[in-house]
Amino acid sequence: VKRVKFLWLLAVFFLYALGFGGSYLLINRNSAAAAVIMASNASVKVPTTVDSSDPREEEYLRKKEIQANEAWKNRPLSAKEVFLTFDDGPSENTLKVLDILNKNDIKATFFVIGKNAENNPKITEKLAENNMCVLPHSQTHDYDIYKKRERYMEDYRQCVVAIKELTGKTPPSFVRMPGGSDNRVSPREELQSIKQQLIKENIYYVDWNVSSGDAAAARVPKDRIIGNILGELKYTSYAVILMHDSSLKTTSVEALPEVIKYLKDKGYVFRTFDDLSIAEEKELEKLKVINR
Ligand SMILES: [Zn+2]
Repeated sequence: VKRVKFLWLLAVFFLYALGFGGSYLLINRNSAAAAVIMASNASVKVPTTVDSSDPREEEYLRKKEIQANEAWKNRPLSAKEVFLTFDDGPSENTLKVLDILNKNDIKATFFVIGKNAENNPKITEKLAENNMCVLPHSQTHDYDIYKKRERYMEDYRQCVVAIKELTGKTPPSFVRMPGGSDNRVSPREELQSIKQQLIKENIYYVDWNVSSGDAAAARVPKDRIIGNILGELKYTSYAVILMHDSSLKTTSVEALPEVIKYLKDKGYVFRTFDDLSIAEEKELEKLKVINR
């Protein structure tokens, strides 16, 4: 009788333990799963961060993310939008530009020269850390790249690789061609062929419809830069502004706070090419700012 009683107790205890384990599993699925793995095989490496083991939860989150992205992709245009773009950096001026942008809580796009990015890795990293849009301009900015389509594409790819290595992110497929997409330095036919190749590879080339004119001389006076921008802004509610953040362009930095203040006062929304909506894409195409 004693033995039967003992077995009975053992069975109760066993069932109790099983129930406890079960409810523990329900309460804390992730760590319980890890514990089970550890208990069943000590040699199995348990990851330090255990992902949700529930595929339905992952599916749900993935769907939510897709829905959010789709909603963003399909959202309507704001009444006024501006894309501040800076070419030819990074340089020491880039940090000053970044500081002004951060103080104003806005984002901008930097079309970097790959070699400059490699020479200023900390500045490039900082741009990415501050969620600025870092895009390729050219690896070398040598106009010889326009002599042959293959040469241009090779230079473009090198710049993309440089950005990827320095920021840890693959840049979205936009490029600003040195001198713009209708520059006069490259042979007409070759330029046409380069643009066709970019389109074929779904790489959008970005020009501008508002120029600061800060490339007209080594140092264009600050007031002239502001005047140029404000003058050209009169003609459009969707502006892609061309500025430069190379080492000589100190007056561009000086002009920037006033330009931003003007844009804010006029109600412009500051945008970058990191998450362009379909409506923005269409509008910029219509304005001949992308894929001209
Ligand atoms: Zn340039």
